[in-house]
Amino acid sequence: MKRYEMPPSFRLKIDRDLCVACKRCTDECGFGVLSYDHEAGRIKAEHARCVACHRCMVYCPQSAITVEADTHAYQQSAAWPVHLREQVYRQAATGGILLTAMGNAMQYESIFDRLVLDACQVTNPSIDPLREPMELRTYLGSRPDSLEFEQEGGYRLKTEVPPQIRLETPVLFSAMSLGALSLPVHKSLATAARTAGTFLNTGEGGLHEDLYPYAENIIVQVASGRFGVFDKYLRAAAAIEIKIGQGAKPGIGGHLPGEKVGDEVAATRMIPAGTDALSPAPHHDIYSIEDLRQLVFALKESVEYSKPISVKIAAVHNIAAIACGVARAGADIIQIDGFRGSTGAAPTIIRDHVGIPIEIAIAVVDQRLREEGLRNRVSLVAGGSIRSSADLAKAIALGADACAIGTAALIALGCRVCMKCYTGNCSWGITSQRPELYGRIDPHEGAERLVNLLRGWSLELKEILGACGVNSIESLRGSRMRLRGIGLDAQTLEILGVSAAGASC
Ligand code: SF4
Ligand code: SF4
Repeated sequence: MKRYEMPPSFRLKIDRDLCVACKRCTDECGFGVLSYDHEAGRIKAEHARCVACHRCMVYCPQSAITVEADTHAYQQSAAWPVHLREQVYRQAATGGILLTAMGNAMQYESIFDRLVLDACQVTNPSIDPLREPMELRTYLGSRPDSLEFEQEGGYRLKTEVPPQIRLETPVLFSAMSLGALSLPVHKSLATAARTAGTFLNTGEGGLHEDLYPYAENIIVQVASGRFGVFDKYLRAAAAIEIKIGQGAKPGIGGHLPGEKVGDEVAATRMIPAGTDALSPAPHHDIYSIEDLRQLVFALKESVEYSKPISVKIAAVHNIAAIACGVARAGADIIQIDGFRGSTGAAPTIIRDHVGIPIEIAIAVVDQRLREEGLRNRVSLVAGGSIRSSADLAKAIALGADACAIGTAALIALGCRVCMKCYTGNCSWGITSQRPELYGRIDPHEGAERLVNLLRGWSLELKEILGACGVNSIESLRGSRMRLRGIGLDAQTLEILGVSAAGASC
């Protein structure tokens, strides 16, 4: 059988002149690639185990390690790309579903990369964000169609405004569960959310006891497995989210392997330690929009209508009609997750081949909600491949109220997108439940890095607004004339509601 095995994907090179055999690299690697060969008196590497997580390279005090792509060549075949051949080798060896993590790795064209933003020139001049105030504050929740005021010794708002949540910048942290992530990462996200005036979303894993003090900046999720859902959890949070779908794996449930269900995760999820945490594909009490409406209102009732209810759906073909149904079901926020959204574990075949891009989903949902007179009833949060402040600005110009970031936040904490989160061996401690690995995340330092990221993006967003000649994020929202497409076909441009570069309107 050995002769069918694939060559390694990566190779570690150790500069023997620089290496002082301190063995730090053998401790740093979560995947067991490096060990000390006592006989030879030097470090040896098992290249086939390397996932290019870079931990050894970054922490080698001598900078003696480099990680390189293995240069083994395959015979060229346009019909049989190498990754498909390697998938067949792996399935022939295992007979199972191929698992992966993070976001879609296929080379679908990024629509964000084919959109450019407008800038003002002479008659409508740009604004200097260093000298003029710029408003990024964003409220999420249902909005009344009009406001009524009473005039009694000054003006008083008469209209009752539904509950909303306030973001100081239009970015939230995506739903990522404790279990998929380690506790120090959740603590980093919670501290950063509080400092930056935004929100952490628990994902489907419940809320750890240590994070209740941060609850004002936390959105709690109610998913099909109902892990960790109880009265205190719902009441503590700033908002509640019903998870229907996830961009990386629309239409399928979740599976947290028993090895990742340690005591903390088990207690938070309210399941026995060491057991697999399986979330069914559907909610077993939701088979129609009417059923969803019942759950939305049951949750509203449970918190005396004091918090907005969000519904998270995956971006799929009929997303506009689905979103309208969700709005009519009483949701205050709709979170749409595009097909590049990340996951801690998913079948590769689903991650890479199911769903549609978030850019398309935002445009068609915003448009349909407007046409049906529902746009004010819901806020739209977009996630699934928001990689920079430019993507953020383009998503907002297409119609989103705010964006959720997951992978970007993990990259800020050191993630190398090695796509091996499901193994539980993350060398950076981000997605591992092994104490010797997750202890590497310092929540204070992690929070600082996340706050820096949000601050940097916010400053860039202000620059973009200034260049567009507007001074508030509200003025960019849904303003598709601020976008132009380059190299997009006519039908895609029409769906996006965007003109081609060079077109005057
Ligand atoms: S960390 Fe660097 S110097 Fe230390 S043993 Fe590994 S390769 Fe050598
Ligand atoms: S979180 Fe860790 S295991 Fe997952 S992709 Fe990032 S570095 Fe790899």
